[in-house]
Amino acid sequence: MTSTERVLTGIGVGRGLVVGDVRRMPDPLPEPPQTNSTLGPDAELARASSALSETATDLRERGARAGGLAKEVLDALALMADDQMLLADVKNRIDRGATAERAVFDAFAGFASILEMAGGYMAERAGDLGDVANRVIARILGVPAPGVPQSTTPFVLVARDLAPADTALLNFDIVRALVTTDGGPTSHTAILAREKGLPAIVGAKSAEVLVDGDVVLVDAGQGEIILHPSAVRIEDALAEAESRRVARESATGPGRMADGHEVALLANVGSSKSATAAVEAHAEGVGLFRTEFLFLDSDSAPTVETQTAEYQAVFEQFPGQKVVVRVLDAGADKPLSFLTDDGEENPALGRRGIRALFAHSDILRDQLTAIANAAKATRADVWVMAPMIASVEETEEFVALCRELGIEKAGVMIEVPSSALLAQHILEFADFVSIGTNDLTQYTVAADRLLGTVAHLQDPWNPAVLRLIREVGKAGDATGKSVGVCGEAAADPSLAVVLIGLGVTSLSMSPIALADVRAEISRFTLAEARELAERALSARNATDAKRAASVALSQ
Ligand code: PEP
Ligand code: MG
Repeated sequence: MTSTERVLTGIGVGRGLVVGDVRRMPDPLPEPPQTNSTLGPDAELARASSALSETATDLRERGARAGGLAKEVLDALALMADDQMLLADVKNRIDRGATAERAVFDAFAGFASILEMAGGYMAERAGDLGDVANRVIARILGVPAPGVPQSTTPFVLVARDLAPADTALLNFDIVRALVTTDGGPTSHTAILAREKGLPAIVGAKSAEVLVDGDVVLVDAGQGEIILHPSAVRIEDALAEAESRRVARESATGPGRMADGHEVALLANVGSSKSATAAVEAHAEGVGLFRTEFLFLDSDSAPTVETQTAEYQAVFEQFPGQKVVVRVLDAGADKPLSFLTDDGEENPALGRRGIRALFAHSDILRDQLTAIANAAKATRADVWVMAPMIASVEETEEFVALCRELGIEKAGVMIEVPSSALLAQHILEFADFVSIGTNDLTQYTVAADRLLGTVAHLQDPWNPAVLRLIREVGKAGDATGKSVGVCGEAAADPSLAVVLIGLGVTSLSMSPIALADVRAEISRFTLAEARELAERALSARNATDAKRAASVALSQ
C-alpha cells in the first residue's frame, strides 16, 4: 500500500474489480421541525399539493423511461403521491397550523403505520411510503431528492442503503459498483447486486468518509475499497479483472476441478421465469426451488391443481436433470398468511419452515402430492427437501411422509446448528442434505440475517460455520450421500472451493454466479481444496479464514 492509499472494508458481493469516481447518494432528509407555519394555510397547501403532483409526474416519467418491472414499481409509488385521502390528511394538518413539509411527513407516517399494523406484504409497502414522502419533502424544500445521482459518466455509487425505488432504476452502464455503509449480505441491495452481477460492498461503515469525486478501487472479492489507489495498483487490478473475464468466458460445461473431480453446479430458482435464466446460464439442474416465492401474495393455501401446474412449468425446463424442490419455507423473513402464526415475538425462532408445515399437515400433504404429480408428468429428476429441520425425529417424519406420497428422493436442509452436528444420524433417514448457509450463519452467530446493525457477524467464512459444515461433509462422506450447499455462500467463488474441501458435493446459487464459480473451482484439485479448507478451519475469525484461504488461492 502506498502512503496515500487507504483501505476501507465491508462485506463483498461478487468478485468484481472496478475503478471509478465516487458519487454519493444524498442522505435521508432530517425530520421537518414541528414549528407552526408563518406562511398561512393557503400558501402551505399550494406548496404541498404542487410538490405531491410533481413527484407523481416525475415517478411516472422515470417509470416510462425504465419500462418493465421498474415501471410497475414506480407507477405504484406515483399512486401514493396522488392519493386523495393523503392529500385530505395533509390539508387538515395544514389547516391546524402545520408547515407543508411537516404535514406531508406526518400524513405519510400515519398511513405507513396503518400498513405496518396490517403486516405481511402491506407492511413492506410502508417503506415505500417513506421513500415517496422524502421525495415530496425534498421538492417542497428545494433540496436534491434522495435518490441515485443523475450522471452520464460511469461512477461508483456510495449510499447508506438503497430503497426499492432506487434499485429499480439503476442504470448498470453508469453505476459500475455499489458501496453501502448499512445493510448486510442478504439485504435487498446485496441480493440485487448479486442478481445483476454488479460488484458491491455492503455494511462498509468506514465508507462514510468517501466524498464525491474520490477515486476508489472496489475489490468485491476481498471486501475492500481502496481510496486513492496508486497507478500500479490500478494497473494490476485491471489486468486481474481482464484475466478473470477470460477465465469466466472459457469455463463452460459441468463443474469440474483441475483433477477432474466433479461438483454439480446448480441454480437457485423461485419461479418458471428464473428457471429460464438458470437454463441460459448452463446450470446442471436446480439445487433449490424456493416454492414459497410463488405464493407470497396468496391469502389461502393454493390448491393441488394450482401447485401442480406451477411446479410442472419449472420441471419441464430440466428434462433428465436434477430439480431439488423445497417445501414451503414460511415464517420470519418470508411470512405466508395461510401458514404462519402472527404475533410471535421471535419469528426466526418460532414455528417456521417445517414446524409450520407439521402444524398444518393438510398443506404439507397437498404440496407433496402436487410435487409428486408434477414430477410424474415431466422428465425431471425431482428431489424434495424440508427447510429448518432441527432434529433426527423431524427428518424421520418428513421422509416417511414423502415415501407415503410417492416421492423417491427425500432430504432435508441443514440450517440449524443442531442438525449440522447430528448430520450423521439425519443421513440414516434422509437421502441427501443441503446446507442453507444463510440461516446456518444466522443461527450460529445469533444475528438476524436482515438486520444491518449485526451484519458484520453474518459472514459464512466464520470458522464456527465452517466447522459445522465440516461435520455435515464428514457425514456425507461416511454414508456416500449427497451434501449440497444452496445458501449464498455457494456463490462466493473462493468460499466455493473451501466448501468442496469440507466435503460438499454440489453447489447451488443464483444463475449469474455460476460462471465465476465454475472458473474458480476448475483452478484447484480436490487435494488443494482440502488444504485450503484446513487453513480456513483453523482461523480465529471470518476475516482471517478468508485471508488464509485467499493467500493460498492466489498462489
Ligand atoms: C438458506 O438459509 O441458506 C437458504 C438457502 O434458505 P433461504 O435463504 O430461502 O432461507
Ligand atoms: Mg433458509
